[in-house]
Amino acid sequence: MRCLVTSARPYDQQFLSAANNGRHELVFTETTLNAETAFIAQGYPALCPFVDDTLDAKTLEIIARLGTKLLVLRSTGFNHVDIPAAEKQDITVMRVRDYSPCAVAEYAVGLMLTLNRHLHKAYNRVRDGNFLLDGLLGFDMHGKTVGIVGTGKIGAALARILHGMGCHLLAYDITPNPDCQELGVAYVSLEELLTKSRIVSLHLPLLPETRHLMNAERFALMPNGAMLINTSRGPLIDTTALIAALKSRHLGAVGLDVYEEEADLYFKDHCDDIICDDSFERLLTFPNVIITGHQAFFTSEALTTIARTTIQNLDDYSDGKDNPNCVRSKG
Ligand code: NAD
Repeated sequence: MRCLVTSARPYDQQFLSAANNGRHELVFTETTLNAETAFIAQGYPALCPFVDDTLDAKTLEIIARLGTKLLVLRSTGFNHVDIPAAEKQDITVMRVRDYSPCAVAEYAVGLMLTLNRHLHKAYNRVRDGNFLLDGLLGFDMHGKTVGIVGTGKIGAALARILHGMGCHLLAYDITPNPDCQELGVAYVSLEELLTKSRIVSLHLPLLPETRHLMNAERFALMPNGAMLINTSRGPLIDTTALIAALKSRHLGAVGLDVYEEEADLYFKDHCDDIICDDSFERLLTFPNVIITGHQAFFTSEALTTIARTTIQNLDDYSDGKDNPNCVRSKG
């Protein structure tokens, strides 16, 4: 099948070409897909977008007119696609349902440990010849209460790691995960989890009902000095309320791999640009905030699985086979 891979970076080309092995005609472009750039879909029955592409109703209407019938997403999350609008345009949407949840869970632990033990500061200090320990005091993770919000594949992988570190685990999810219950994870209300957890890690999908899940009222429930980690989706957090909770010194540390307005920034080099997002720039000024550019998924194992599943999705669609990776608005 002829497929245009949008927002493509060199690593996408490397892993997808290896998985494809010449079966489909893959064309790679760095262009990010949105209503303004949708004309690039001309001549491609399939598109392979990433999370920074915007597949809203307008873009979908244009690409449908240009002949696109299939979207094979290189991601688990599909909040960047208007699924009812895709159905209206008769465009099939497939995703990578499951790829190395450990990659994201391990990264979340990395953020926790970096913030807790101030590794980001220690790295620079030692390079400057400063071996003072003042300001680098951390706490044992062992015995601390960590709240996991969302215990699907990634949240459950995180629970397994933190269980091994001797943490006391609380969780909130509309559907409790029996694997987590077996580990001894206690399911509680979101309010109880926020009140009792020293560290909170977010692993819910972005849905209308989870947008700004973390707002001023919920930050106020967290203990003074608590740590918040978000490796899920930026809009789960109300950024304005987050900045207020940091300025008042209520939150003790924040690790963000995702950011509410990341679409205009992430996956591109802005070294020589003036970044006009004042909230993002304000977040960067806090010594107790670490921000990374949506890289939690970025391991060779994850990229291999994403590429293989994407090619399998193209194969199944071409062969008219049923595929569990189809995304539908109902079920
Ligand atoms: P999953 O579908 O396995 O788990 C999601 C969990 O959220 C499920 O247990 C579900 O019951 C729960 N849930 C859904 N809606 C809820 C609600 N309204 N209230 C309470 N619980 C709710 O997903 P996953 O594979 O664990 O991934 C979680 C999220 O992580 C993805 O949606 C994606 O946004 C994000 N992600 C980020 C990266 C990254 O690189 N930073 C990589 C992969 C995934």
